[in-house]
Amino acid sequence: MTQQPQNKLQNKTVLISGAGVAGPALAYWLRRYGFTPTVVEQAPSLGDGGYKVDLRGVAMKVIDRMGLTPAITRHSTRMRGGAWVNAAGKPLATLGPDLIGLRAPGDDEVLRGDLARILYEVTKNGVEYLFGDTVTGVAQSDAGVEVTFARSAPRVFDLVIGADGLHSTVRAHVFGEETRFVRPLGMHACVFTVPNHLGLDHWELIYASPGKVVNLYSTQRSTAKAQFIFPTPAEVPGRHDVAAQQRLIAETFAGAGWETDALLAAMPQSPDFYFDSASQVHLDRWSDGRVALVGDAAHSPSPLSGQGTSLALVGAYVLAGELKAAHGDHRVAFARYQEEMRGYVDVNLTLGESNAKQMVAGSKRQILMQTTMMRLVNRLPWKDLALRPILKPLNQAANALTLADY
Ligand SMILES: Cc1cc2nc3c(=O)[nH]c(=O)nc-3n(C[C@H](O)[C@H](O)[C@H](O)COP(=O)(O)OP(=O)(O)OC[C@H]3O[C@@H](n4cnc5c(N)ncnc54)[C@H](O)[C@@H]3O)c2cc1C
Repeated sequence: MTQQPQNKLQNKTVLISGAGVAGPALAYWLRRYGFTPTVVEQAPSLGDGGYKVDLRGVAMKVIDRMGLTPAITRHSTRMRGGAWVNAAGKPLATLGPDLIGLRAPGDDEVLRGDLARILYEVTKNGVEYLFGDTVTGVAQSDAGVEVTFARSAPRVFDLVIGADGLHSTVRAHVFGEETRFVRPLGMHACVFTVPNHLGLDHWELIYASPGKVVNLYSTQRSTAKAQFIFPTPAEVPGRHDVAAQQRLIAETFAGAGWETDALLAAMPQSPDFYFDSASQVHLDRWSDGRVALVGDAAHSPSPLSGQGTSLALVGAYVLAGELKAAHGDHRVAFARYQEEMRGYVDVNLTLGESNAKQMVAGSKRQILMQTTMMRLVNRLPWKDLALRPILKPLNQAANALTLADY
């Protein structure tokens, strides 16, 4: 084997699959450290908007180190709060934005599409993006990774990183089929854009009925997002069978009360219907030779944890940083990346699991107890103190890693 001169950067060309959150964030750091990243994204272009995602704790420090705090502040959803309502739409408990979003001072919330665009804008000039394409084959050797694509010509890269989300294609090619790693939490979620027929202004409404939750929020005047959460049915429609998925939602929520029927009526016209199980990803190792995984592809804690975006940003920072520290030696860097991230990831996976158990109340009595407690706590002059035990597990999970300086 040829000896690399000490401190000379090796493995400079890196293919990243996925231009969501982890992919462009990783490209940002790799480029800054002297690597040459290429990002391949299956979508023909970046989508706009999407659902709102939280940025918490250590992830906000990564945002700050990228110099993106002003951009995030500009795109903050600026939600004013929200209310739990009953079947007639009467508010049962009204909470401010931080309590309803379980955020600590310094945390923020943005639309996922806005975050992806911010990350794309700061990388597009130094990073090659291949939109509308996907990896179809990955063959590793000592010298590099030969990658075939659906549209582009085959190419050889030094390293390949799967940042392609819950249903990662890179993971399927290199680590094995999805069912070995994706662990459903027993709930399904569906989100889509609807007309803002209630005129919500940076406001969220939550309607819980036994076993199910419907919520509606708006971050701008004309449209709103409807979100449905419900137990995974015995028979789940195929991942790409939108018509069957919409039939299932319509049957599951028909006549459920509140504004549900109006939201269901708007569903077929929605431009951005999302439907999937709330699932986690569990892998013992996030790398195999010259290939590694980052973000949801490696360790999705599920949408119910509210921590997936933060994990994706922090994972990208640590992975790139360890590659820099090891001068590109992937054997050293991938092992250190796993060591640094494991504790933080595990505590967030545990949080996601416990949230799934508490997310949906099973009976009318439980719903009454929950909303009564929220109403009472919200009235207390020392409510911040009373809420501390409720927020503690999330705050701890959001801060369960100290960022190294690379
Ligand atoms: C309804 C919902 C609500 C959520 N709420 C929150 C929240 O409140 N807080 C929070 O922190 N997180 C939340 N999440 C989770 C959050 O969106 C993810 O954890 C986060 O986006 C992970 O980033 P990622 O870059 O790893 O993956 P993704 O954002 O999923 O990006 C993956 C990218 O890879 C692309 N891709 C997929 N397959 C291929 C392929 N074969 N070839 C090329 N490209 C491919 C996709 O198109 C996508 O652009 C929520 C998720 C959902 C669905």
